[in-house]
Amino acid sequence: MATHTTEGERYLHVLAVPFPAQGHLTPLMRFCKLLLKHYQNRGSLRVTFLDFYPPNDSADHSFSFKFHHDRLLQRVRFPFPNFSQQLPSLQTFFDSLLCIESGLHQLIQFFNCHGLPVTCLVTDFMTTFPTQDVADKLGISRIALFTLSASRLLLINYASQNDTFSIEQVMDAINSTERRDEVFCDSVPGLPRLLNKDLPQFKHITDDTRTVWEFANRSWKACNSRAHAVVLNTFEELEPSACGLLSDDCDVPVYDVGLWIESLSGDTSTSMREEDERCIGWLDQQPTSSVLYISFGSTTMLSKGQFEALLHGVIDSKQRFLWVLRPGLIDDIDYCSASKEIISRSENRGFVVDWAPQLRVLSHSSVGGFLSHCGWNSTIESIANGVPILCWPYFADQHMNARFIVDEWRMGLQFKHTGEGGYLVESYEIETAIRSLMEGKEGSILRKNAHALKQKSSQCFESSGSSLLKLDALIKDMETSIQCGTVSSSSCKS
Ligand code: UDP
Repeated sequence: MATHTTEGERYLHVLAVPFPAQGHLTPLMRFCKLLLKHYQNRGSLRVTFLDFYPPNDSADHSFSFKFHHDRLLQRVRFPFPNFSQQLPSLQTFFDSLLCIESGLHQLIQFFNCHGLPVTCLVTDFMTTFPTQDVADKLGISRIALFTLSASRLLLINYASQNDTFSIEQVMDAINSTERRDEVFCDSVPGLPRLLNKDLPQFKHITDDTRTVWEFANRSWKACNSRAHAVVLNTFEELEPSACGLLSDDCDVPVYDVGLWIESLSGDTSTSMREEDERCIGWLDQQPTSSVLYISFGSTTMLSKGQFEALLHGVIDSKQRFLWVLRPGLIDDIDYCSASKEIISRSENRGFVVDWAPQLRVLSHSSVGGFLSHCGWNSTIESIANGVPILCWPYFADQHMNARFIVDEWRMGLQFKHTGEGGYLVESYEIETAIRSLMEGKEGSILRKNAHALKQKSSQCFESSGSSLLKLDALIKDMETSIQCGTVSSSSCKS
């Protein structure tokens, strides 16, 4: 194996700390790979990526990895006490994150003692507490990675400034179920017209809406005053107003250097579930643009009623489909019986997996549409592959993303008539929308728009492309203002 470090060499060593959820792990790893690729010819960059795991007992609390002086990217298994996706509320989860602080200090001390000091933290916005504190205490620069849209960050920016609108107004708009279709903001700089129902809400297993808005406010205030820079997985042509305003108005530099849509496998895989590759073989046998890909991401749950309506709609549309039926996706129905029911009614037009290699699916020529919950990663993965979207948003930023997909980028459809506060769609409505997307005139216009956006997204990284220029600026910024380390073989006892 090639040795990448030599005694005395100057380098930048990034410690990457993700927020432990599927939609956050992947963009951080993709960003690290992007940095490594663009650093290749400029100097040395090392990345150490943390992989959280729940310790077995209170004695099992040390990080473990094979230390490679010569690897550009290495991963560290790092204990996260209380780590569980099933915590009673997000507040408990945010609180439990604080306990990684002392482990981070120890790990950084370990690297100091082994001749490869950490020179920069690149950490998820959601881990601002405690990673910003660690960075400040140790005098290390921190770059915050915001894994959602620029528009979502702009919304947080406004709420934290408390002059354009306050969290109280947001809470009032979200909780007024009878005023869901009223306009929340119409002429706020950088944002499109947003309805009350478009605002990010966090009513999932518990209602964590206020908790998350307050947490985001505090995190953003800390980032905007103490981080070295903020990076976004979006690009200027996708969200021109929000990107422009953020880079003009924030106190720290904001770099929109997306889209990073690299397929991750082997040593850099971030998948929390095993991907079922068989669906690619099945897609190979389907006609071009004939398959509707159905996935609701890693956390969204459907009620039994929603599942049944969706199943009827999909079957009655007579389209081919690939459906990700994640275990736990449907309340009250177990995976086996749901998947059997889908297959038995599909007349050989459908394929079901519990987790798909989504990027490979979306880039497959047989896929013609995506029925999606509109998580930001799914949205940009669809854009990068020119696949139009049938939007079925549930919570968090998904409604806002759907607003952009439908009204701003015109590459998707939304259901028009919904019941149960927007969460129940009639099967006939689903069937009609699927047909419009997959075979109607409207669908072909949306597909064309999606293709145009795909083109724009790939031009960003061509010479003089907006993301490439900003990435260059970010790297220059890192080179000039983040103190490099010097490789040394000296070691000390930690
Ligand atoms: N994903 C996947 N296989 C699946 C479903 C989802 O690899 O079967 C990936 C998808 O490519 C995306 C992530 O999981 O990168 C989901 O992130 P997103 O922001 O779309 O939604 P979230 O899971 O955070 O709600």
